Amino acid sequence: MSKIATYIKLLPRDLFHTLFPDICLACDTQPKIRQGDFCVECLHKMPYTDHFTILDNAVTRHFKGRVKLEYGAALLRFRAGSIVQNMLHKLKYKKRKEIGEIFGEIAGQKLIASPLFQKPDLIIPIPIHHLKEKKRGYNQSSVFGKAVGKVLGVECREDIIIKSKWSESQTGKSRTQRVDNVDEVFELIRPELVRSRHVLIVDDVVTTGATIEACCLKLTESQVGKMSILTIASAS
Ligand SMILES: [Zn+2]
Repeated sequence: MSKIATYIKLLPRDLFHTLFPDICLACDTQPKIRQGDFCVECLHKMPYTDHFTILDNAVTRHFKGRVKLEYGAALLRFRAGSIVQNMLHKLKYKKRKEIGEIFGEIAGQKLIASPLFQKPDLIIPIPIHHLKEKKRGYNQSSVFGKAVGKVLGVECREDIIIKSKWSESQTGKSRTQRVDNVDEVFELIRPELVRSRHVLIVDDVVTTGATIEACCLKLTESQVGKMSILTIASAS
């Protein structure tokens, strides 16, 4: 009996290693360094940004004149065909949740160490439609946000802004049209929770910024106190 109990106790760990072997999260080919998540090569070429030490950075400049931010930062630079794109793709479409968790932990630690850092009252992830979340198994921004929240000791809430409608394709639309288009699909259902508070908005990647801007507008309409942005990657 005790042998069976031991076996059952060991099984999940064994299964875990079978499903997620000890290979680099970025390239999926080389072994991870000891007590790390990446291989030596990927660790050296990981394109970390300087956003945590410079207030006037690519993210804050991107939203300048559109959204008033306390600070804004992306952890990594996004390039087409890069290891960053590969990892974000796996996080979003291949059920590789741990990628969001690891980058959330790294981003949270960088934020705490940053001279620009002000502790937010609340973390809000950019929502995805519930049918999409069901298919994907999770919202990748929430996975990232929860990991950041764990490091900062701040709550990450998915029940404040929700995505109630499918968004149309953004292709061929102007910036204003894109923001208007996404503005209609988001709903701020708990406005009392953001009033006069500092909200940290988290997302996987900033590309056009229309989605984040639309969420910021919703928060502004509800008299949010301050807003900051943190993402895994940024295209600019
Ligand atoms: Zn690697």
